[in-house]
Amino acid sequence: MRYCVAATLLVLALLFGLPWLTAEAPEVPGGEDPEEPPVSVDGDVVLKVWDGSAVQEMTVAEYLPGMVRGEMPASFEIEALKAQAVAERTYLYYKLETGGKANHPDADVCMSPDCCTAYSSAEQSAERWGDKAEEYEQRIQTAVQETDGLVMLYNDEPILAAFHSSSDGITANSGDVWVKDLPYLTSVASPETGDTVPNYYSVKTLTAQEFQETFTKAYPQAQFSDDPQQWITGAVHNDSARVETVNIGGITVEGTEVRTIFGLRSASFTTEADAESVTFRVTGFGHGVGMSQYGANELARQGKTWKEILEWYYTGVSIETYRP
Ligand SMILES: [Zn+2]
Repeated sequence: MRYCVAATLLVLALLFGLPWLTAEAPEVPGGEDPEEPPVSVDGDVVLKVWDGSAVQEMTVAEYLPGMVRGEMPASFEIEALKAQAVAERTYLYYKLETGGKANHPDADVCMSPDCCTAYSSAEQSAERWGDKAEEYEQRIQTAVQETDGLVMLYNDEPILAAFHSSSDGITANSGDVWVKDLPYLTSVASPETGDTVPNYYSVKTLTAQEFQETFTKAYPQAQFSDDPQQWITGAVHNDSARVETVNIGGITVEGTEVRTIFGLRSASFTTEADAESVTFRVTGFGHGVGMSQYGANELARQGKTWKEILEWYYTGVSIETYRP
């Protein structure tokens, strides 16, 4: 038998040349099992994905890179990208287990940028990345593949892995922003600063008239005096430096709602008014719950691993291989 194999190899070598033999010749049998191909958990899980016109089947291994491409700058530290990949995978399974999108009842997830997610295909991203495309795609793939199948669990269930762009030194409790406090979405320190985050500080100025009209659309019963400096009073800040409530035109509104009404980048803001205008000064970007992406990048720069980054932002979670 060995003679036959050797004879075949010799014939093939003569046919195709010796370089083939030296490059491809099997090792001498020594009782060792041939190496098993690596098993990808992500490659095993099939999703029904709404692409904007139809439902198509994709594995998690195919779908997840599109989420990471779309949600985090590929120039970020690789440990931050891995943390993002695990957060996205966790969010995906959380969504699958708590019910899909109501607007696509036949699909598990949606990759249409028109309605649901920031999914970005390899082609779209390559165009955006230009001459960095090859390097960045490799980083995205590495982030997904090196965290294959790993998910954050709390009480053995995938968590609501919320994330945001940047915080004002501290993240928000989920109950400060949404209706419910979740034990793993609690306020923690976050190390990003204006030195590392673009547009960390933003300013929005409205004329007094614009301010009044915008607020009155949401609250028609608001009463505005002649002096804009009297319009905004009694701001109360919560433990995470964001505006909890503030009184505008005689109405008490939540800071998160002020953010929505005026299109502010976050609920961490101060206001100033003069006779002509109202100015918001805002720090950070996003709802502030869960992982801060710029904070994750900063922690990675400081030498933290993706696991340490996730354990930093998601209190008390365990990180395990998970199959839905
Ligand atoms: Zn959609």
